[in-house]
Parts: sequence; C-alpha cells; structure tokens
Amino acid sequence: MALTVRQNKGIIVEYKGQGVVFDPSGNSHIHPIFVSHAHADHASSFKFQDSPKYATEETVNLLTALGWKNIQNWNKVKLGDKIKIDDIEVHIHNAGHVLGSVQYEVNTPEGTILYTGDIGLENSYTMKSAESVKCDILIIETTFGSPIFSFPKRREIALDMVRWATMEALPNQRLPIFKTDSIGNAQEIIKIFNTLTKLPVVTTKSASKVSDVYRDHGHDLNYYDYKSKDGEELLESRRCVVISPKGSKLPLNNTEPALASGWAVLFNKRSKAFPLSDHADFKSLLSFVRKCSPKKVLTFHGGTITKEFPSYIKTKLGIEARPLSVKAETMNGQIQNSGSRTKTCTNQLLKTIKIPGFSYSTSWLNKEMARSGFSVNETLLALDFLISRGILEKNNDGVKLT
Ligand SMILES: [Zn+2]
Ligand SMILES: [Zn+2]
Repeated sequence: MALTVRQNKGIIVEYKGQGVVFDPSGNSHIHPIFVSHAHADHASSFKFQDSPKYATEETVNLLTALGWKNIQNWNKVKLGDKIKIDDIEVHIHNAGHVLGSVQYEVNTPEGTILYTGDIGLENSYTMKSAESVKCDILIIETTFGSPIFSFPKRREIALDMVRWATMEALPNQRLPIFKTDSIGNAQEIIKIFNTLTKLPVVTTKSASKVSDVYRDHGHDLNYYDYKSKDGEELLESRRCVVISPKGSKLPLNNTEPALASGWAVLFNKRSKAFPLSDHADFKSLLSFVRKCSPKKVLTFHGGTITKEFPSYIKTKLGIEARPLSVKAETMNGQIQNSGSRTKTCTNQLLKTIKIPGFSYSTSWLNKEMARSGFSVNETLLALDFLISRGILEKNNDGVKLT
C-alpha cells in the first residue's frame, strides 16, 4: 500500500515517500507541482515563486497575458512528454478544456493514476476532445456531473447563438454581448462567428489578451479589441457582436447581454443564456470513466455534485467511487493511518506544541498541522496517543505539555 492519493490544498499522489502535487492552492507542499491549466482555481501555485512547477508553455503564456507577475521556477511540459521523478513517471495528455490544458497520468510500480484537471470531451470549434487513459485510480472533475447537465450538440448551440445575434438582437437595434469566461469560451465564440457568419467580433480587455495567446499558438481567430481603431468603429456602427468577460461593464447603450456557460442549463427563459461549456456534461463524464476502466474513481471539483456523482458511477458502471478527501486512498481502500505516518504526525505535533505550560486549542493545532499536510483525523489520533502516554494533558482550553 505504498501508493496513496489525498486532497489537502492540492491533490497529492505519493509513492514511498516520493510524490507529486496537482493544482495546489497552498504552498506547504514538499513535492514537485504540476499545473493542469491556466484557470485561476488551478494555477494559483504560480504565486509561490520558490516552488518548482511543471506546466505547458500555453498555460504560462496565458497567465502572463492575464497579468500574473513573477512567473518563475517552472519546467515546460508538452503533450506526449514523460517526466521521471524517482520511481514515479508522469505522462502528459490532452484535456480538451482550454488552450494548454492537460491531464496527468502518474505511473508507479504499484499502479497508474490519472488526474483529469478540467476536461472537455467534445471536439469543439477550438479544442480537440480529451483522450481517455486506462488507469487503476481515476481522479475526475465533476463540475457538471449531475444528470440535469446534458448539453446540446456544439453545432446546435453555435447556430442558436448566431440566430439570436443576427435575427433577434441586431434587427432590434440592440448590440449582442456575450458574457463569458475570458479563457476558453471567449475564443470558442469568436471561432463560431468567424466560421458561421461574416459578422465581425469585438472583444474586450482580458478576452482580447487571451485570444492573442491563442493566435500565437496557431489558432486562426479574427477579432478586434474594443479600444483599437477598428474596434471603436465597429462598436460605433453596431454591426458586430461583442465578447466580454463576466462581470465587466461596458459604457455602451442599447445592448443585449447573453450568458455563455454550462450553468445556462439552470437558467429560466427570461434571461438569455447559452449552454456553451468547456467542461464535459454528465453523460460524457460517465462514458469517459467507462473508457478509462479504473478500479476506483475519486471525484473532485464540483461542490455537492462531487458527492453525488460517485453514486452514479457505482450504480451505472459498478465501479467503486467516492469523493476525494484529506484521507489517503490506496488501491485497496482508504487508510486511516499507517504506523509510520502516525509517528511523523506525532513528531510534528510535538514540534508544534513547544511552550511548556501553554494551552494549545485543538482547532489551532488542526490548522497548523494541516499546513504540514496532516488531516484533522491524523492530528486527533496523534493527540489521543500523546494524551494516553501522559505527554500531553487535556484541559478546557485544549491541550498542554504535562
Ligand atoms: Zn478550468
Ligand atoms: Zn476548474
């Protein structure tokens, strides 16, 4: 049971004391970091300058374009690469989500783990579908892992968007504005209008910057930044569509905003929204799981859906599944604690509780120990152990050295 997976401010895969961390949000990790793509909730380790990171060049270019500062200490990975770290080998696969997005396959002598990051499972106007990878443990994102999320075919959505812009908004003297993510959907909409219409596309701020990076990496996209001369003229003439990131306000009159996002499925008819998503929907997630034929599936990324999706995997595919948590998972089940880990946890605890006579609250200790990668469960077990040995004593405020 040397191979373990757990989630603690990042997804940690360990094999015999070596390991890798995927998309961490904290900087207390001791293993090399792999970043799956440029969305902020996955790339935050680029704020930690000292930690060594692996990422695609596209990911780094996107972050730089979006104004991330001091990006350093990173190694370039590309599709097909195999990175060796001691006994662990990390293979790089396409994730089909946004420019430069990858999945990471971890090979160890004990088994193979696939970390999907965010995945798109459809050939879209800008992306190729993610590939399934045979693995023993599959760690899969579940943003839209609920049966309510069933997206129409990409071309149908595209035609709907074009129809709305050209036959509803514009004829009524209203300027169509797509509110959407600046990485992924914005470029997909540009490509849709470039392919299906002759209508020029005007982009704002981050949508323009991100699209420039797509263009640098070989994507044939035609658009005009709203501050350029062409862009200003087009907005003046109102013979164009506008793509603007969610939340940003434009000083324009008579506009007709529409949201483009997978969440559109949940919207009522009164607000205009298109279910354009760079994530897989429920059915495609399930068929992806089947193709990877894992022995176990661990879910993450999706709030309550992360907790519900495992039951569908169990009933529809007969594969063991549960949400990823701070508890270490192995090929053979969840481990509460291995002897050696309890020992390191106990030692760390004694380093933390160092002032004699001072009472330490359990909640503070849990937080401190989490920074060193220990779960609440592990910390509490170590506390019990030290209390039972008479090294610590319990009082109303917490625990102190005896
Ligand atoms: Zn993403
Ligand atoms: Zn994400």
